[in-house]
Amino acid sequence: RELPGDPRTDIMPRDVLHACYTKVSPSAEVENPQLVAWSESVAESLDLDSKEFERPDFAQIFSGASPLVGGVSYAQCYGGHQFGMWAGQLGDGRAITLGELLNSKSERWELQLKGAGKTPYSRFADGLAVLRSSIREFLCSEAMYFLGIPTTRALCLVTTGKFVTRDMFYDGNPKEEPGAIVCRVAQSFLRFGSYQIHASRGKEDLDIVRTLADYTIKHHFPHLENMSKSESVSFKTGEEDNEVVDLTSNKYAAWAVEVSERTASLIAKWQGVGFTHGVLNTDNMSVLGLTIDYGPFGFLDAFDPSYTPNTTDLPGRRYCFANQPDIALWNIAQFAMTLSSAKLITDKESNYVMERYGTKFMDDYQAIMTQKLGLPKYNKQLLSKLLNNMAVDKVDYTNFFRLLSNIKADPAIPEDELLIPLKAVLLDIGKERKEAWTSWVKFYIEELSSSGISDEERKASMNSVNPKYVLRNYLCQSAIDAAEMGDFEEVRRLLKVMERPFDEQPGMEKYARLPPAWAYRPGVCMLSCSS
Ligand code: AMP
Ligand code: MG
Ligand code: MG
Repeated sequence: RELPGDPRTDIMPRDVLHACYTKVSPSAEVENPQLVAWSESVAESLDLDSKEFERPDFAQIFSGASPLVGGVSYAQCYGGHQFGMWAGQLGDGRAITLGELLNSKSERWELQLKGAGKTPYSRFADGLAVLRSSIREFLCSEAMYFLGIPTTRALCLVTTGKFVTRDMFYDGNPKEEPGAIVCRVAQSFLRFGSYQIHASRGKEDLDIVRTLADYTIKHHFPHLENMSKSESVSFKTGEEDNEVVDLTSNKYAAWAVEVSERTASLIAKWQGVGFTHGVLNTDNMSVLGLTIDYGPFGFLDAFDPSYTPNTTDLPGRRYCFANQPDIALWNIAQFAMTLSSAKLITDKESNYVMERYGTKFMDDYQAIMTQKLGLPKYNKQLLSKLLNNMAVDKVDYTNFFRLLSNIKADPAIPEDELLIPLKAVLLDIGKERKEAWTSWVKFYIEELSSSGISDEERKASMNSVNPKYVLRNYLCQSAIDAAEMGDFEEVRRLLKVMERPFDEQPGMEKYARLPPAWAYRPGVCMLSCSS
């Protein structure tokens, strides 16, 4: 809908009303774009022959300079709560979907360029992305996938040959950085905010919420569309014993429950691997339960529940590592509220959606931590003592769990030898802390001995859930430093390592090392919201 204003002078951003998307073509300026990295694994999902990467026009298409024939490109409209406040319309400010394809398994994949130029949702920003943040998104999308964590994927990384100006946060001076574009791939990029925006615009737009929900269920949750009575399950809500929610009678409620459970299960996986998203606004919450939008994310090195990779989130630490489970529930509550304001679910169903989040999160989290410890059943006391010890001594989260599988379940091991398998992660600890750890290891060995699982069997199963390699910030930074000098070998090597995070990979041990001293210098590895 046209709003008043002379198109030649009216450069104020304005709302896109009554629409879920806007047709728009990529417009980032490019000069001799180069394909610098790609994922064979994503290509496979798309039935894309790896020879295609050699096409002379590949970088042209995936930088948006040439159109993808057969696609209709567009940017989506969405809103969101940013840091707990309703922020109104946001939308794809620098992401442009090229189109969708159906592969031979009838899977639907959406291809989206990030950093391909302005859209009606760019507000005051430039619609572009810098190489640094594009490398991070490219590598982490794939690293997460190979860790077994639901995520949007990344097909390829293309440099634009143009520079982008960014205000660097640590010295306040604008800097020219090389521009790049990542092609993200997902079954859908719909977010909580995609529904919120229309509900926020009042009665007139509530129909859009329903239409979009129908679309989502039809394409992405088809099993909820025709639930027969024989599959019908009724549930009791927590507060009043006799209240029953029958999910088969309302597909929107069944959908909301599934979104809630997928989200819970995603967050449990993040906690298990020590991943902190950094910007858990409702516009960064996928309705498919995928990790979406890799900005100032970080994997834990030293265990620290208050770890906050996003400098924009200091000192509040709303999105710190330990807050993620609660924040995701807060986001689910906003999503449920949207559906109930559009009269798609009742208040009772909405409460139930949140209740199921809690149950699912605890179930999954406990199962994951139990597997990480190689125990047959969850032991709350053992885990909380461990996490407390790890926080006190700033123990490396990834390496600790990997080394833990070397402990033998033998109660006869002399006390002064108990910590030997953990030597490499228990650095510089004094006598008192040694005692605390020895007492924990004793407790652990007692639990292991009663489990009856052999040391070998337990080691194999622990190593299949405790990665040796995660995409630590400093590893990313080294690859970025080389790439900014024109050398992309390290980006490609890092991708290869992260494609097999649970394997030993002889010769690649340096990628499992603790961060070096340079990684802690001010300004290095610091990350903020926008880049
Ligand atoms: P984020 O915090 O990354 O989720 O981004 C929030 C909003 O800002 C989204 O609507 C983005 O599309 C938009 N945005 C971020 N960076 C840019 C940029 N460089 N140009 C245009 N829009 C942007
Ligand atoms: Mg975002
Ligand atoms: Mg972002």
